[in-house]
Amino acid sequence: ELIIETENLQKKYVTDTVETTALAGVNLRIAKGEFVAIMGPSGCGKSTLLNILGLLDNPTFGSLRFSGQEIAEASERQRAIIRKQNLGFVFQSFNLIDELTVEENIGLPLAYLGVSKSETERRVTEAMERMGIAHRRAHFPQQLSGGQQQRVAIARATVSNPSLILADEPTGNLDSVHGREVMALLSELNEQGTTVVMVTHSPSDAEYAHRIVNLFDGQIVTENLNTSKHVTE
Ligand code: ADP
Ligand code: ADP
Repeated sequence: ELIIETENLQKKYVTDTVETTALAGVNLRIAKGEFVAIMGPSGCGKSTLLNILGLLDNPTFGSLRFSGQEIAEASERQRAIIRKQNLGFVFQSFNLIDELTVEENIGLPLAYLGVSKSETERRVTEAMERMGIAHRRAHFPQQLSGGQQQRVAIARATVSNPSLILADEPTGNLDSVHGREVMALLSELNEQGTTVVMVTHSPSDAEYAHRIVNLFDGQIVTENLNTSKHVTE
């Protein structure tokens, strides 16, 4: 069963004088439960692809199906609903809100979904415990180490039980110990059934994936199965 299917996905950015082709026809199929790493040199289109898969940006041309639904045919409002209900985002720079506590940051996606206060409290506590940051619930992001901030970000990304997590260089700002910790957490979420698509420069992070997709100049040039990990159906 496919969660994502793209066909000839293209993206051009047009500024005053320059036209940049960021994606030049990407055909990508991702099965439910898979863990896919997207690699490639700087500027090859990784972030653009992740943003389009995450419905944060629109392709210029081509088809994107999310769980069988053609996204080009969905309205902006429907896309926002799919995003809130099904997707979780993890970024290199954590993207936490400095003015909110750990607990409040993690609860945000549930606020957008209109989840009740008591249910929010229950789910936020569960997410904090899973990520080992419950002892920091009342702290603000700036009072935490990078590793802790990323664990808060993962808790926020998963509190709404998304079917797909999109991670853009999740260990890019972490030392190797905390980076491995974050990768282990993503891996655990994947083993529990969440599909993970991650952009990374790090070959050791890519080891956690079932499959590595290599982009070059906006196209998939090679794909490698990680033989040390079994691929889920
Ligand atoms: P990567 O994540 O692999 O570094 P990006 O997806 O960020 O690559 O960028 C792909 C190409 O698109 C690059 O040439 C980049 O300069 C260009 N690009 C990305 N975002 C924009 C934008 N908002 N406006 C114009 N060009 C962009
Ligand atoms: P602090 O600065 O509060 O000690 P750390 O980031 O060093 O915070 O983490 C505290 C402890 O919790 C560390 O021993 C760390 O390895 C551990 N830890 C990290 N992730 C988890 C987790 N998911 N579940 C439980 N414990 C964790």
